Amino acid sequence: MKKKHQFETRSIHDGYESNSHYNSLASPIYQTSTFTFETAEAGEKRFAGEEPGYIYSRLGNPTVRMLEERIASLESAEAGLAFGSGMAAVSAVLFHLVRSGDHILCSEGVYGCTFGLLQLMKEKFSVEHDLLPLDSKEQIIDSIQPNTRVIYIETPINPTLKLIDLQMISSIAKERGITVVVDNTFSTPYLQRPLEFGCDIVLHSATKYIGGHGDVVAGLVAGDKETISSIAKSTQKDIGGILAPFDAWLLLRGLKTLPLRMDRHCYNAESIVDKLKSHPKIKKVMYPGIKGYPSYAIAQKQMKQAGGLISFEIDGGKAEAQAFMNKLEMIKIAVSLGDAETLIQHPATMTHAVVPEEERSRMGINHSLIRLSLGLEASDDIWEDLKQALESLEVSYQ
Ligand SMILES: *Cc1c(COP(=O)(O)O)cnc(C)c1O
Repeated sequence: MKKKHQFETRSIHDGYESNSHYNSLASPIYQTSTFTFETAEAGEKRFAGEEPGYIYSRLGNPTVRMLEERIASLESAEAGLAFGSGMAAVSAVLFHLVRSGDHILCSEGVYGCTFGLLQLMKEKFSVEHDLLPLDSKEQIIDSIQPNTRVIYIETPINPTLKLIDLQMISSIAKERGITVVVDNTFSTPYLQRPLEFGCDIVLHSATKYIGGHGDVVAGLVAGDKETISSIAKSTQKDIGGILAPFDAWLLLRGLKTLPLRMDRHCYNAESIVDKLKSHPKIKKVMYPGIKGYPSYAIAQKQMKQAGGLISFEIDGGKAEAQAFMNKLEMIKIAVSLGDAETLIQHPATMTHAVVPEEERSRMGINHSLIRLSLGLEASDDIWEDLKQALESLEVSYQ
């Protein structure tokens, strides 16, 4: 058997064999909607599954397949699937796993549109859910109902960056035959591989770190062969949220530099965390890599590094937060994350504006809270920009 390469090597090579593609170093883009059959009988065999090969790009495309094999390799999964957005991935997975009358146990603070999807599933299809912190074993066991089919989690949680213990969740779920789905967007497989902790399915908004350049919207799923193949044949094929070949190619390119980029995102986060912590205009800094932060021990256990996002509270409310953001010169105000550019956003009025105020305050999202996605720029330049904006705040508000 061929020796399994290390992560950095697999992120460049896996899923692509150049000698099957005229020795083209870069993977080709199969920009085609359909595939021709030599004969009518060959077409019949292909449809019957008696002969391998492609039929139609919604059912499979060679460029997309390369990406699916690469993400499977990186997540330590048997198989992967690509989608036209992170939400197409989330909805295909959940619609596959549950039926009406089932219950989903979900971590508090999930991505806004995932929250929206859970509401829709409840109203239209009677799939119930509970949103909970999922931070203690007793509470999780007590919240499991006879009809709980799925535990759905995000870790780190957005934007408070608290972590959920993957091993604890998966051991509770396994005993009860419940499927654990992890949205691994914030960590990427370079920093955290949930399947290695016993979770069942991992998914991504590949729009973020995996693409890494702010130029593509996409989703990825990885898991065991049987589950992935039934998603492919049902909620992917028939709902149809597939990925385009060119977008798959952009992600294959992005993945080649994922380890390098993540090291830099994390390095920048660590150096900015230290400076923010000692700044008089900053009240609180949230980052799982800070010793003494509530999730520090879990970070040590399940993450390679603590990630490229920091949240912090400034001294002041909404007016001060907005004034501070408006003073930034290099750092861009935008939602999304994981790009080369450092991005900043105000969760209470942006990503979490749809969450009811009461729920927001329970999750610790107030108007002083700001989320920063560290880019790949020089950390000194990032700090200079933050510092000058904080200083201007002192001038305007003292
Ligand atoms: C962005 C995001 C999504 C949704 O992905 P899209 O690619 O925008 O559809 C889901 N989960 C998390 C954690 C995200 O950050």
